[in-house]
Amino acid sequence: VLILAVESSCDETAAAVVRNGREVLSNIISSQIELHKLYGGVVPEIASRKHIEKINQVIEEALSQAGVGLEELDAVGVTYGPGLVGALLVGVSAAKAISYAGRLPLVGVHHIEGHISANYIEHPDLEPPFACLVVSGGHTHLVVVKDYGKYEIIGRTRDDAAGEAFDKVARAIGLGYPGGPKIDKLSKQGNPDAIRFPKAHVADAPYDFSFSGLKSAVLNYLNGCRMKGEQVVEANVAASFQKAVIDVLVEHSMMAVEEFGFDKFAIAGGVASNSSLRQAMEKACRERHIGFYHPSPIFCTDNAAMIGAAAYYEYMAGTRHGLDLNAVPNLKLGER
Ligand code: ATP
Ligand code: MG
Ligand code: FE
Repeated sequence: VLILAVESSCDETAAAVVRNGREVLSNIISSQIELHKLYGGVVPEIASRKHIEKINQVIEEALSQAGVGLEELDAVGVTYGPGLVGALLVGVSAAKAISYAGRLPLVGVHHIEGHISANYIEHPDLEPPFACLVVSGGHTHLVVVKDYGKYEIIGRTRDDAAGEAFDKVARAIGLGYPGGPKIDKLSKQGNPDAIRFPKAHVADAPYDFSFSGLKSAVLNYLNGCRMKGEQVVEANVAASFQKAVIDVLVEHSMMAVEEFGFDKFAIAGGVASNSSLRQAMEKACRERHIGFYHPSPIFCTDNAAMIGAAAYYEYMAGTRHGLDLNAVPNLKLGER
């Protein structure tokens, strides 16, 4: 089964051709990061306009690099939520046009289902059930993947997403946007035990997360130093903040894995490309004799190959959307 997948939920215009959900024939990503950097974050209106400029070119490139014509495709998959409504609409409209012109089934995909499914691409042996920690720019979910397309969210953030916390703290230190990769890099030169930042737990919800208190603690620490005229060692702040986030992510994930008795654990989303998080999870899983799965960094941040992987399993399960498919900015995981 050959699927053309399209993704435009945030600031990446992306298209990919994927065979049987796991074999990536092409994976084209046009990132708008350089553009949004000027504003310190994603500007929705600019994102939509840029998607419109790029989408046809990106889709054509995905098809030509895969050496596949429209007539050889079996379906078109597209992210229809969650995300920025104007951004989503560009990909959804393009996918609908191709579906209509090529008489191809249309399969709408949930963006987070895509992030989770990125794990299938490089791990032919990975099959549900397993537990997955989704850590991205807008989500922090501890998910039980019961079967393909069947999810139960057992833990979630009460406030900021993990990636959002990375981006905000990076901005406070003066590292620029997007902050995740910059904190990752700077942390390698810092001492993670230099500053003791709080690790928040939510009462009566052991799998939930909260990162806004940690973010405030970092801001207070920076302000305190400035007021006292003390020099801030940015690398130590970055490393100590990163450690506080990772400790909680590992702790809650392993608690869930043990409680539910899973022998497989995966991570997904942009923050899953964080090198220290990967190391910490790898170690925690090894100690418990649990299989640890993670996508390569290029499949962690937004891409269309992961949407192609998710679309395949939705397609096989019979999911079909009509040409009235709309963008759903607050789409819930597991909703159709
Ligand atoms: P969502 O998927 O929730 O809709 P999104 O699509 O904007 O949000 P992703 O593309 O999955 O998010 O991930 C982007 C986030 O990942 C940003 O917050 C970015 O800072 C973070 N990120 C990327 N690389 C790293 C890294 N190496 N370490 C930590 N965070 C990272
Ligand atoms: Mg992005
Ligand atoms: Fe994403």
